[in-house]
Amino acid sequence: MRRYSAFAIAREAMRHHLGWERAWKSPTPKAQYDVIIVGAGGHGLATAYYLGKNHGIRNVAVIEKGWLGGGNTGRNTTIIRSNYLQDPSAAIYEKARSLYETLSQDLNYNVMFSPRGVMMLAQTEHEIRGYQRTAHANALQGVATEFISPRRVKELCPIINIDGPRYPVLGALWQPRGGTARHDAVAWGYARACSDMGMDIIQQTEVTGVKREGGRVVGVETTKGYIGCSKLGIVVAGHSGVMAERAGFRLPIESVALQALVSEPIKPIMDVVVMANTVHGYMSQSDKGEMVIGGGADNYNNYTQRGSFQHVEETVRALIETFPIISRLKMLRWWGGIVDMTGDRSPIISKTPVDGVFVNCGWGTGGFKAIPGSGWAMAELMAKGHSPLADAFSLGRFREGRFIDESVAAGVAH
Ligand SMILES: Cc1cc2nc3c(=O)[nH]c(=O)nc-3n(C[C@H](O)[C@H](O)[C@H](O)COP(=O)(O)OP(=O)(O)OC[C@H]3O[C@@H](n4cnc5c(N)ncnc54)[C@H](O)[C@@H]3O)c2cc1C
Repeated sequence: MRRYSAFAIAREAMRHHLGWERAWKSPTPKAQYDVIIVGAGGHGLATAYYLGKNHGIRNVAVIEKGWLGGGNTGRNTTIIRSNYLQDPSAAIYEKARSLYETLSQDLNYNVMFSPRGVMMLAQTEHEIRGYQRTAHANALQGVATEFISPRRVKELCPIINIDGPRYPVLGALWQPRGGTARHDAVAWGYARACSDMGMDIIQQTEVTGVKREGGRVVGVETTKGYIGCSKLGIVVAGHSGVMAERAGFRLPIESVALQALVSEPIKPIMDVVVMANTVHGYMSQSDKGEMVIGGGADNYNNYTQRGSFQHVEETVRALIETFPIISRLKMLRWWGGIVDMTGDRSPIISKTPVDGVFVNCGWGTGGFKAIPGSGWAMAELMAKGHSPLADAFSLGRFREGRFIDESVAAGVAH
């Protein structure tokens, strides 16, 4: 595939942009693959990419029931950070964040990584203690964060009202190299690179069953017929429970709708990402000028990919206390995605009771930031049977009580 470059843009400009190749192919499925990945979200595509790049496994198909990146990957609010509390989480999220730093160059695709800084506001005494503890833990883990004063918060984000009547800003956990990236571009960049390595991305095809022989996977049933494989990766986020059932096992996971909204575009007013866990809301400004606002998750399990007035109202009402400026903004649109929640708010990257079947899920409300690290670890697990980044996240932890409690770091739904 031809590389994207300034020369390529100039060349195409001279010939009315008629020479661009398709970014990825739309192949007919082969009868057999070494590896099938179910789900062409960021995590599935990144898994395929690192299987090829790091382990030389290229006879791979990624099967997607809709269009690639059309699940949570294309619906999230794009926050990237690695300021988690527990060591295994800090390791995988920081691996992901550091891969994001050079992802555009690695993929030859501009994912618009913008390390503009992420702050998590402390608005109660409890949060001050919690975030100071996280800053100390991050120092030991080699993750660059600091606890900053209200005055510094105001310097970094002048539109914040730090003297709110109910919840004044008492400080913040600040990660200067956290930020955002363009979510679709992450999926598209990985897809293009996978296709370039000869992998097949098969869209509009649902995996409806998993065929096993003697306790081992041998293939999948799909809406386009049977396809054989030696190994299977299930990477379907909010539909993990459904796919696990098709493969013959159960997962300790719940699926709920999580929502977000954007305002009309306005001139630049904020160049950092701010999360306010106590009032429950978070906000950043997109390159187009829209304020990107994260709402809450539904309080009941469901598979409805839609927004609702109640969440918009609750989220905007909560944020106005800290950002009075947004009270006069019009909201443009809102939406929902189905996220997969575990009890300890940490992901699952694991072998399963079925030989040759691996699962990557449970990223809940915060898996966009993890895509490169998760793909890296899942590919290593599938290729070698073990990955230092993934070991702590195995299914065994629920049997053995080795929970990785990130309910504070997961904080707001992000
Ligand atoms: C509103 C919202 C805001 C969020 N904000 C953030 C944020 O700011 N930062 C952050 O880090 N994370 C955020 N997240 C979470 C993040 O989006 C997810 O954790 C992440 O995108 C999960 O990626 P994935 O590849 O695992 O899943 P997905 O992108 O959902 O991909 C899974 C794919 O599997 C496909 N699939 C399902 N079943 C089948 C089947 N049987 N056969 C074939 N294909 C199938 C689906 O169609 C889907 O495309 C947010 C999520 C939402 C909904």
